Amino acid sequence: MNLILFGPPAAGKGTQAKRLVDTRKMVQLSTGDMLRAAIASGSDLGQRVSGIMERGELVSDAIVIELIAERLPEAEAAGGAIFDGFPRTLAQAEALDRMLTARGSRIDLVVRLKVDDQALMARVAGRFAQSGRPDDNPESFKVRLSAYNAQTAPLLPYYVDQKKLVEVDGMGSVDAVAAAINAALAGPRG
Ligand code: ADP
Repeated sequence: MNLILFGPPAAGKGTQAKRLVDTRKMVQLSTGDMLRAAIASGSDLGQRVSGIMERGELVSDAIVIELIAERLPEAEAAGGAIFDGFPRTLAQAEALDRMLTARGSRIDLVVRLKVDDQALMARVAGRFAQSGRPDDNPESFKVRLSAYNAQTAPLLPYYVDQKKLVEVDGMGSVDAVAAAINAALAGPRG
């Protein structure tokens, strides 16, 4: 079982991915976490991506596709991957499909957490100070949101065509959203 958690920045994808890891034998594959780990380690990769991430722009497809390729076998062996923050472009989605097909596998379900832009801005405004992330500030958040709307949201029709997309209201409490995701996973495609 492989699942994509889809939605704008700060929609709660990471929080929900961690809940699923706790309740199911699945592995969270967050490209954002992998990139932050690379920055923290001081690696060449980390140095190349830190400015891009700080500004809120997307890093190159090749970099994140490679990060996912490295971790995919382990995640599938454990019981399945929860993709969090990946894919973010059509090229990434197509590369993911190719990687999975080559392994005789597939994406089973794409859960879209629906939260509108205005609500998101209001939701994160109070959190910028505590987050500790250099891209959690009003300017970078705006860039992240525009990157989502321009480059990532256009992926939705790709998954609608594949009949894999289910929508969940992302504005409820953590528990309410988790319950809605579990219901989607128990549904006909889950
Ligand atoms: P959020 O969903 O809150 O924006 P993430 O941790 O998923 O947080 O991503 C943080 C940053 O990492 C992004 O703004 C981008 O710079 C980079 N990043 C993460 N995943 C990808 C990806 N799949 N493609 C390109 N850039 C990515």
